Amino acid sequence: MITRTLGGMQKRLPGPWTARLSALGAKAPTSLLVCLYLGLALLSAIPVYLFTSYLSGAAKQSAFAVAADQAAYRLAHEVDLTLAHLRAVKGLFDGSVHVSRDEFSAFVRALRPRGAVQALEWVPYVTLAERDEIEAAAREEGMVDFEIRDYGGDGAIVRAGERAEYFPVYYLESPSSDSMMVGLDIGSNLVSHEALRRARDSRRQTASGRIEIMIEQQVHPAFQVFEPIYEVTSADLDKRTVSLVGFARGVFRIADLVKLAVPEDEFRVAVVDLSAPPEAAQLYPATAIGDDVSFLHEVALPVADRIWSVRMAPAAAGAPDSLPQLATAVWLGLLIVLWILRELVSSRRHAEDLAEVNSRLEALSDQRQQAIQELERSNRELDDFASIVSHDLKEPLRAISNHAKFLVEDYAEQLNEDGEKRLNRLIVLGQRLEQLIADLLHYARLGRGERKIERVDLVQVIADIEGGLAEVLQSRNARLVIKGPLPPVRAHRPHMTALFQNLIVNGIKYNDSERRLIEVGRGPAGADGGHSGFEQFYVKDNGIGIDPAFKDEVFRIFKRLHGPAAYGEGTGAGLSFVKKIVESYGGRIWLTSVPGEGTTFFFTLERSDDATVEETRLRAA
Ligand code: ADP
Repeated sequence: MITRTLGGMQKRLPGPWTARLSALGAKAPTSLLVCLYLGLALLSAIPVYLFTSYLSGAAKQSAFAVAADQAAYRLAHEVDLTLAHLRAVKGLFDGSVHVSRDEFSAFVRALRPRGAVQALEWVPYVTLAERDEIEAAAREEGMVDFEIRDYGGDGAIVRAGERAEYFPVYYLESPSSDSMMVGLDIGSNLVSHEALRRARDSRRQTASGRIEIMIEQQVHPAFQVFEPIYEVTSADLDKRTVSLVGFARGVFRIADLVKLAVPEDEFRVAVVDLSAPPEAAQLYPATAIGDDVSFLHEVALPVADRIWSVRMAPAAAGAPDSLPQLATAVWLGLLIVLWILRELVSSRRHAEDLAEVNSRLEALSDQRQQAIQELERSNRELDDFASIVSHDLKEPLRAISNHAKFLVEDYAEQLNEDGEKRLNRLIVLGQRLEQLIADLLHYARLGRGERKIERVDLVQVIADIEGGLAEVLQSRNARLVIKGPLPPVRAHRPHMTALFQNLIVNGIKYNDSERRLIEVGRGPAGADGGHSGFEQFYVKDNGIGIDPAFKDEVFRIFKRLHGPAAYGEGTGAGLSFVKKIVESYGGRIWLTSVPGEGTTFFFTLERSDDATVEETRLRAA
């Protein structure tokens, strides 16, 4: 199971989907889960569909706007080319003293007028005084019926009445050869007259509003543009009026302009004259584009002193692409749900694995707890045993010693020398046994019970020891030196005193040198004996040394390498105390020695990094 937990790859391999579904809800019937799964997929398809629709709508709108802008640009260009005909006619009149009917006709034909041009005309400015002369001249040119006419009261074209000025169509070139127009006074129409005046005064091409023209008995929306032609150009308005000779007039069909510039299958187009009053604004087609269109793009177009608005909408509603979009959305929805299910299944497995690991950990922790309790129990038993040894054995032991002393003191004359010697020996052995029992009790209790952990200054500890051993040091010609600074450690101060005192005393005791030297130091530099946060120390002497064969044995309780006669009394417990103290702080102790030269004891202790705060902690072993 644990291997499976760790083997993420193996765990994440997709298995059969039914297995996954059943893993999700092992007790639910599979058909129900399939329905649930499909339902979720459809539900999640809705936001996906909305989102993709939004995206595709936005993309379409911007593509449409670009195409519409291009179409509007082509339309503006077409209008420009169309109006250029009038500038050409003006050029003809400006450059000639007199333009005859034939010359006009030949010139216009040579222009090869563009599709939208329905008529190009010469409309002279005729005063009442000039009327007869003009009419006579036309008739002489073969226009036998020519006379200046206008629309009578009943809508029929009749000879114009007398008025100050006339603007008759004098020359006319038209693909539909609408000869009815020849002689018609353009100025008699109010709308046209207003445009004529503006053209004359502004000296610029000027369009009128919407007009209608008949082509093959059908009415078509069109517009007319006047190009003023002067005999003498002058900035002065009055002189200009006098010098006006007439207008080049063009009549243009709007539908042709639009068709040339804007592809019919792509766009629906409406052209509105923004310079006209609202009721006369719609130029093309007869009806405006409604609100039912998905996108509407509008571009302003200046045309001969007027501003048109070109409005474009997509030609058709367009094939609905919502079906493939919906399919995509459902497909994505399925994928999303599949992914969610997969994550659910895998996280469920994760949770199961975690629960299993947790229960194992809990079991381990229980075992550990049991072991600790067991250890505590055995320690308590050891403690009890030590107490028994201490109290129950000490009493009879003391009694034996006391009886021996009593015998030596009160029955001395009845004892011979050998008997007295043996009794004295019995007393000494009793005392030694008492010491051994005391040491055993001390060993058993060492490292247990309460201790005060604090920052201990080892230099101070050693200085105190040195003070206590002053006489011994002097009598044995021994010197205690501290090599380099000693960092403070975290420990129970009495333990540190016992640790260093035992090692220092041994260094003096097991030493034949004339000048006994005990050196305490730290290191080697940075060494921590393999424990981070620990510091390594040493106590080195120039004594008799220890045979390497006993380098571990000397730490065993009551193990002595020498008899009391050789280097003095001792129970052989000192080094076992030292080892137990060091290990109770998590440290290590070992020795190196060259017999005859000396011994160095190395040990590690926890460094006290906090130099200011002295932490006090009670620790129960
Ligand atoms: P004790 O000193 O009471 O005998 P220890 O446990 O301190 O007990 O020492 C155990 C034995 O190890 C000693 O009897 C001695 O033989 C040997 N020993 C300890 N320290 C040294 C030392 N610095 N140099 C040589 N031998 C030592």
